[in-house]
Amino acid sequence: MTHHLAPKISLVVFIDALGWEVLKGRHFMETQLPFRRKLRSVFGFSSACIPSILTGLMPREHRHWSFFYYSPKTSPFKPLRLLGRLPRALVDRGRVRNLISKLIKRLYRYTGYFQLYNIPFKYVDKFDYCEKKDLFVPGGMNRGQNIFDYLERAGVPYHVSDWRVSEQTNLDALKADLTQGKITFALLYMASMDALLHEVGKGSPQVDQKLAWYETQLEEVLRVAGEHYAQVRLFVCSDHGMATIHTHFDLMSKIEGLGLEFGRDYTATYDSTMGRFWFHNPVARERIVALLEQVPQGRILRQPELERLGCDFECDQFGELIFLVNAGVLIVPSHMGLKPITGMHGYHPDDADSDASLLCNVEPPNDPQAITDVFQLMRAESGA
Ligand SMILES: [Zn+2]
Repeated sequence: MTHHLAPKISLVVFIDALGWEVLKGRHFMETQLPFRRKLRSVFGFSSACIPSILTGLMPREHRHWSFFYYSPKTSPFKPLRLLGRLPRALVDRGRVRNLISKLIKRLYRYTGYFQLYNIPFKYVDKFDYCEKKDLFVPGGMNRGQNIFDYLERAGVPYHVSDWRVSEQTNLDALKADLTQGKITFALLYMASMDALLHEVGKGSPQVDQKLAWYETQLEEVLRVAGEHYAQVRLFVCSDHGMATIHTHFDLMSKIEGLGLEFGRDYTATYDSTMGRFWFHNPVARERIVALLEQVPQGRILRQPELERLGCDFECDQFGELIFLVNAGVLIVPSHMGLKPITGMHGYHPDDADSDASLLCNVEPPNDPQAITDVFQLMRAESGA
């Protein structure tokens, strides 16, 4: 049997929340992937970090950050306001909200990740949503171009995972494509590490088990790739790490205790690690700022710092004021989740638990330092 090997394949494996600190003290693929470095993350949740990996741009440039932003004029959610009149015990059940989210996604033909989370129905018509499109296709960005725009233009034969299906399905799809020997670049997307780390925290033995599973799976990918390619270049990367929660903080009650009226005086949205505010009169701004300045669990991010973080948005799209809690503090309740959890991310990128990782079987090109550099790595590797 003659066996012609294709010359080279570059595999980029994205494992959500595989933080540098998560890997500390563990020996995940140390022999297979000896070139290891920590990457600085981008301020925001995966909804901000993944677009930065795919474009090399900061949030200010690609305009993907936290999902919801104040925009009553463009809000597509006006019909949902009616649900605010129904008993919260009925419409606020997780399953009901998931169902409504799915319905909206289909009705509005959103191809991106769409989830209403816990945003109250009575205020939802004040917000618009920043990830309506699938990020993993050409033209997926709100602004700028992603790696898929480059790959298509350059005519690179590539493989990319479908983030809607399971890790196992994506692994099988990649191996099937590798067996054909036609692709020269692949991006494998593995999402479930993030959910596990939120649930059990980075110190859990369940994380060791999950890492052992990834190791087995990636060794199998390497084996299949090695049968069809003369050179296999493997890069495992992530978007952020995971901090362990030590404090719950009820920011919402504090703000509501000021006696201001939501919607008339101010509008706010509470993510797990930040409160984002829009002010409709100067008194509201004054009182909220005065209160937040006294809160020891976090701090207001001023303009120069937001600029350094690449999160200074045109027209303050994602908030006129951003209040960020300290690493390990969780805003509860929030508009994102109600379930008690062990781990969270979306803290300041200076915090060690925010750091992402890059693990490679060859020296990575272009000396990557931050998650945005993964984009340049993918361009260099694919020749796009
Ligand atoms: Zn997460």
